[in-house]
Amino acid sequence: ALSHHENWQRQWRNPTPKKEYDVIIVGGGGHGLATAYYLAKEHGIKNVAVIEKGWLGGGNTARNTTIVRSNYLWDEAAALYEHAMKLWEGLSQDINYNVMFSQRGVLNLGHTLQDMRDIQRRVNANRLNGIDGEVLDAKGVQELVPIMDCSKNARYPVMGASWQPRAGVARHDAVAWGYARAADAHGVDLLQNTEVTGFKIRDGRVYGVHTNRGDIAAKTIGCVAAGNSGVLAKMAGFKLPLESHPLQALVSEPLKPILDTVVMSNHVHGYISQSDKGDLVIGAGIDGYNGYGQRGSFPTVEHTLQAIVEMFPIFSRVRMNRQWGGIVDTCPDACPILSKTPVKGLFFNCGWGTGGFKATPGSGHVFAASLAKGEMHPIAAPFSIDRFHSGALIDEHGAAGVAH
Ligand code: FAD
Repeated sequence: ALSHHENWQRQWRNPTPKKEYDVIIVGGGGHGLATAYYLAKEHGIKNVAVIEKGWLGGGNTARNTTIVRSNYLWDEAAALYEHAMKLWEGLSQDINYNVMFSQRGVLNLGHTLQDMRDIQRRVNANRLNGIDGEVLDAKGVQELVPIMDCSKNARYPVMGASWQPRAGVARHDAVAWGYARAADAHGVDLLQNTEVTGFKIRDGRVYGVHTNRGDIAAKTIGCVAAGNSGVLAKMAGFKLPLESHPLQALVSEPLKPILDTVVMSNHVHGYISQSDKGDLVIGAGIDGYNGYGQRGSFPTVEHTLQAIVEMFPIFSRVRMNRQWGGIVDTCPDACPILSKTPVKGLFFNCGWGTGGFKATPGSGHVFAASLAKGEMHPIAAPFSIDRFHSGALIDEHGAAGVAH
């Protein structure tokens, strides 16, 4: 079918690494590519390399279930995720690449009185922050999703939900590819199959990286390596308060359109949406153990499908097509780290855990500003690693509890 399609324009170049760049980004996922794009576009810093050990967007960016929302509890987190949401709303136009951002709304279900109290508190906080949100009762949920079992017969009957209408899903690969093409057009070098194996550090300052393709110099380096962040921090001689866990997802055989919103349940623990291809996209929780294998255990899959079938008995005979895992870097307060480090010139953007896809544009935007100025952007500043010394944690376990 493709035989007559010749001379396609290349999406991005495949350059030979230069000896030196103004800024190096380690990690060619969505966050790293977005950072490089905004560095070039908004700060005029174009002598930038994105160094990726595999292929662009092959990490968690390509493995996630693509839920985008901004209904976080605390002001700091709400500001960060809502900043991202506003960028999502114009992203396809900005990078001239259809990221298929579909604002089909997200429901976070409540199954107990305490769930509903927490939902009310979070929606109130969201509205005070100018973020859209409503509290629905079980009848309201049933009207939105007629195929869900909202009866009293369920083991954990649905009592209601928070509803964010502007939330939704996007096409993960397109986000990585769109940012990559746009960054490349600004002159950013995208170096695939290039692994950072160490940092050149002298007198407490970074001067470059060691890679499997030789040393590359830069005095400003941003590490955006998701599940491998702890490994990179170790290479630089410090520890981050992160745990790396496998997180799994699975998709079903394609179905005719049947579910036009996103449903998440913290309590029974499962979340589901339907992709434009028709697959049901289902997310699990993290596997309890630490690990760097991009796969997880069967009991987690089984538990997730129990939850999905409990909420949607109608799906009990749908066959699953594919299952996979990514490595997520989780922080003790379920919030990311955007921070300077003990090494001058070396910055980290990590700890997004199970929920960083939704932040991709916002994370890249504020991280680029921080690298360009050498000081953390005001939206990023509360997410410094200093918070684990000062105690100014931003506890988002309630909003981030279900892996998404
Ligand atoms: P990645 O895309 O993982 O990119 C990091 C890159 O760094 C990788 O490509 C890796 O190869 C590279 N790298 C690592 N070490 C080195 C090195 N030494 N040298 C060079 N390169 C290196 N978030 C949501 O918001 N919504 C969801 O619905 C959602 N669902 C998820 C479901 C699953 C199954 C998983 C695994 C994650 C999910 N997430 C979700 C989380 C989300 O995927 C991540 O938070 C986000 O994609 C992280 O993006 P990133 O660009 O930082 O990381």
